[in-house]
Amino acid sequence: MKNLVQILAEKYLEDKEADSATMTETEKFDRYGPIVKTFKSSSNPRKSYEVRRKKGHDPSCNCRGWATHKKCWHCDDVKHNRIAASFLKR
Ligand SMILES: [Zn+2]
Repeated sequence: MKNLVQILAEKYLEDKEADSATMTETEKFDRYGPIVKTFKSSSNPRKSYEVRRKKGHDPSCNCRGWATHKKCWHCDDVKHNRIAASFLKR
């Protein structure tokens, strides 16, 4: 059972997500770089998460985990695949 604080925190994060949803593609590109990978949300099929990566920066994501901890498995996946890809290229 969720308490009120949890509900409010989630609502706040949803608002924050909605915030970045109102940014234009150009604004997102300037701030976070190009989309390198997208993931379908498992909880909401209409939603997808975009991992962006700016040259010389760690990847960023528009999911809740990244919004709160600056860390999520989407970004980890991108980082790991990049490492795997660099091995395959050898
Ligand atoms: Zn994410």
